[in-house]
Amino acid sequence: MTKRIFRSILTVSLSVLLVGILLLVAVLHGYFETRVESELESQTQYIAQGVENAGMDYFEGLSSVSRITWVDADGTVLYDSKEDASHMENHADREEIREAIAAGEGRSARYSETLAQKTIYYALRLSDGTVLRVSDTQYSVWALVAQALQPAAIIVLCACVLAAVFASRASREIVRPINEIDLANPGESVSYDELTPLLAKIRSQNREIDRQMVKLRRRQEEFTAITENMGEGFLVIDTRTHVLSHNTAALRLLDAAEAPAETSVYTLNRAAGFRRAVEEALAGRRSEQLLESEDACRQVIASPVFQDEHLSGAVLVILDVTEKEQRENLRREFTANVSHELKTPLTSISGTAEILENGFVKAEDVPHFAGNIHREALRLIGLVNDIIQLSRLDEGGFTAEWVDCDVQETAKNVLEQVGAAAEAKHVTLTLTGSPCTARAVPQILEEIVYNLCDNAVKYNRDGGSVCVRTEQTPKAALLTVTDTGIGIPESARSRIFERFYRADKSHPAGGTGLGLSIVKHGSAYLGATVSVESELGKGSTFTLQFPSEN
Ligand code: ADP
Repeated sequence: MTKRIFRSILTVSLSVLLVGILLLVAVLHGYFETRVESELESQTQYIAQGVENAGMDYFEGLSSVSRITWVDADGTVLYDSKEDASHMENHADREEIREAIAAGEGRSARYSETLAQKTIYYALRLSDGTVLRVSDTQYSVWALVAQALQPAAIIVLCACVLAAVFASRASREIVRPINEIDLANPGESVSYDELTPLLAKIRSQNREIDRQMVKLRRRQEEFTAITENMGEGFLVIDTRTHVLSHNTAALRLLDAAEAPAETSVYTLNRAAGFRRAVEEALAGRRSEQLLESEDACRQVIASPVFQDEHLSGAVLVILDVTEKEQRENLRREFTANVSHELKTPLTSISGTAEILENGFVKAEDVPHFAGNIHREALRLIGLVNDIIQLSRLDEGGFTAEWVDCDVQETAKNVLEQVGAAAEAKHVTLTLTGSPCTARAVPQILEEIVYNLCDNAVKYNRDGGSVCVRTEQTPKAALLTVTDTGIGIPESARSRIFERFYRADKSHPAGGTGLGLSIVKHGSAYLGATVSVESELGKGSTFTLQFPSEN
């Protein structure tokens, strides 16, 4: 801006200077021409008087700058102050002479290109009919300019320098107040009134920008609060795969340390599935991929983002589906196990029934085969009951109320139930300890204690013993079931609570493999914990612990 103002001022100054000089030269030239003409006229009239009085004698001793020519009425030159009159040609055809003979006076001017001079003639007819002509020369404008070129150049140069200095200072002075305006906070009083509307506009725009900024900041905070509280990972990328926005969950789920600005999303996770999801989304297609690692499973959902029908990036949502996948695997395993467990007794029942139907069984063997059918049917009923119990625990479908249960009383009832089985194996049952109570659902508590005592008898040696002990400590209500059975190998101890898991599949007392699963889920439902200690060949102790409410 300063440069433009400087150039404008300089151009104007120099133009004014140049035009001024030219006008001055033209005006002065015109003025001097008029002066020369009028002087020529008065000089001619003066000389004419002398010639009228003295004739040719007047010219003797006359010295004049101007050229004087005396012409006879027929045009013959009688006298010329510069040349010999006898050698001069007839002047009758000269314009000024003709005019003077005809009208008493005549004027003319002739221009010499070679000399760049203009000769002005003034002729006056005398009383005897002769004509007196006086002429004078004057330089042309350009000749004058050319003569004055050197001083003129110096003057113009000085004027240029002055104009430049003035223009520079003036432009700086003009721009300084504008530069000093604080655009972030333009004040009321400014050096130029013309800027007041502009500054008012800037002020109102600043206010609008501030308002928008506050709004944007609030939205950003809301957005961050939402995304940061999301368990799901959230990433926004542009078409160059650069991360524009992300939440902490995204980094956690992708096992990335951080997402530096302006880096590719590929640096966050190198899995092929992740790359595929991003590539698909940036090709304009929605994509879902599973990222499976040893102990976790993530689902990446990548969707393209369009703006005005042009792809502008992609949004990636990352979900932790580890549990879901584990549940899905368990469900698949469970379904396969259930089918298998149901099929075995059903095949046995069907086979035995077929033999009976075809009459291949002797009458005395019928009770034996019928007994088989009965046993397998009971096994099926037990299995179905266990599955029902487990699914109830899974879904929390118990309507029974929570009450303060007498754990010792429950244990006593259960021992009565397993009494027959214990007797058959000559297993001694004892109940010791002190009475204790736990807040629980009685039906579930009994189921848990039953499964523990049933196993303690089932997996016991002939003539062994089972001891159930209840105890109330300041921190918990405890129930332990100790047996003198076969024990559980260490490798199996962490798995015996899994559904359908059996440590020793060939053991004759083997059940459905669901008993301890019911114990585990039931305990969790009641807020209790169950643990096991065991020594192979010596026995096992299961401990059920209900935390005290206070
Ligand atoms: P099951 O119906 O086979 O008894 P459980 O879920 O109750 O199924 O038990 C799972 C496995 O744990 C059993 O198959 C058995 O191998 C082992 N087990 C459970 N309780 C005992 C115990 N008291 N002594 C030894 N092994 C046991």
